[in-house]
Parts: sequence; structure tokens; C-alpha cells
Amino acid sequence: MARRKKVYEGKAKILYEGPEPGTLVQYFKDDTIAFNSQKHEVIEGKGVLNNRLSEFFMDGLNGIGVPTHFIRRLNMREQLIRAVEIIPLEVVVRNRAAGSLAKRLGLEEGTVLPRPIVEFYLKDDALGNPMVTEEHIAAFGWAGQQDLDDMVALALRCNDFLGGVFMGVGIRLVDFRIEIGRIWDGDYQRLVVADEISPDNCRLWDIKTGEKLDKDVFRQDLGSLADAYSELARRLGVLPKMSTPITKPTLIN
Ligand code: UDP
Repeated sequence: MARRKKVYEGKAKILYEGPEPGTLVQYFKDDTIAFNSQKHEVIEGKGVLNNRLSEFFMDGLNGIGVPTHFIRRLNMREQLIRAVEIIPLEVVVRNRAAGSLAKRLGLEEGTVLPRPIVEFYLKDDALGNPMVTEEHIAAFGWAGQQDLDDMVALALRCNDFLGGVFMGVGIRLVDFRIEIGRIWDGDYQRLVVADEISPDNCRLWDIKTGEKLDKDVFRQDLGSLADAYSELARRLGVLPKMSTPITKPTLIN
């Protein structure tokens, strides 16, 4: 039997060659990383949950006409995706002050922003993903003006959709990060939401209690990340109501 070809291995996912040209298989690992890889644990079941959650969000986006790379889920840890050319920028949308924005501008965590704010960070781990402006992006050619307009539009449509979905289950979408890729169709390109949408890349606070249901649980040692993600999946109807939370973390370093 032929072994499939690994195309790329990142911190939380592996990409394998897909069954047809232009497709890839995205495998979700249990590795959980924070602070530019300084904190690393394997949390059993996290990859399974993120595969299901990302499927749920990407499917929902596709359904309302926001294009994504997602084709279909294949099994517990894998999904079939369109191969895209990833734009080397992380696109962050913020509705309330938290994390690096709260620190940078001296805002109290949770302060409502006057409007959703879209920010760009260069995808470069060695540099710690520095924030960049549209001027830098245009000058260094990471994306053109049309791309920038399209990226902002995609990011804001994701924000509307995700914000609504979370609001419906009593959760506040504080901020999130997406990655965007290009798909070529002959001489034409279009931009699609790529990578994953999961609690690894969002800040999600329970509206009533303020409880965190995202990766800050891991970053700030607030309890079991698997329990938080399972609770989120249950509320969204991605996991059955009675399913038991998934396991304990294994410390790597
Ligand atoms: N984020 C991410 N990957 C990163 C950096 C940030 O997914 O490499 C997400 C993060 O989970 C949060 C949002 O982007 O939902 C904004 O993060 P922020 O800039 O406040 O950085 P942080 O405080 O997380 O370092």
C-alpha cells in the first residue's frame, strides 16, 4: 500500500496530499501551543474537537456564500480542503479589547470597541508575528490593494456570522484570527477563508458568567481546555448533550 505524502507539518495540524489535484487532507493534532511555542502540551481529544468545530464554522460560512477552503470532513481528525496559496498575513477581528490590544492601548479587558477593528500580523514565528499596516503590506507586496479590500470584507463577514452563531448560545465573540488563501482559476484568483476556525483562534466569553471557552484557558492555566472545548461543542450542537468531557493533558515541556 502506498504511503500518502506529507506536504506540511505545523504546530497543530498536518497537511497531506489529497485524493485529487488541488485538494489536501488536513489532519488535526492534539498539540496545544502558546506564547510562540514556549508552552506546549498534548491535550488528548483536542484535535477531534477542533476538526468538528472548524467543520461546523466553515460549513456555515460556505452555506451563506462566504468562500472557504473546506470541502468536507473525512473522519474524526481529518478534513478534505482545497489547496490554496496562503497569504502570509494573520487577519484579526476584534469586537472588544483583550490580549495584545488591551495591553498596547492600555484598555481594560472587555471594553467594547467603537466598531469591529481589523488588524494584520505578518505570519513569521521567528519574528513573533509582528503587527503590520496596510502600508507595509502594499510596500512589501504581501498582498495587493484589491486583496486587502477583499480580506477586510471576508473578515467582517466572518465576524458577523460567527458573532451571531455564538450569541445564539450565550457566548460573546471578543476577537478571532483567520488566515486567507488564494485559489487560481485560470488567470483569475479569488480569496477564501483557509486554515481553521476553532477556539484555538478565538476569544469566547460566556455572556452571563464571563467564563472563558477558548485557548486562554490553556494560556492562563484556568482549568481543563478539553472541558471548555467540549462545553462549546455541546452548546453549538456539534457534540451530543450527554457526551463526557475528553481526558487530561499530557505535559511535554
Ligand atoms: N491569535 C491566534 N494566533 C496567533 C495570535 C493570535 O489565533 O498567533 C488569536 C487569539 O487567539 C485571539 C486573537 O487572535 O483570539 C487576537 O490575539 P492577540 O493579538 O490579542 O494576541 P494574544 O494576546 O493572543 O497573544
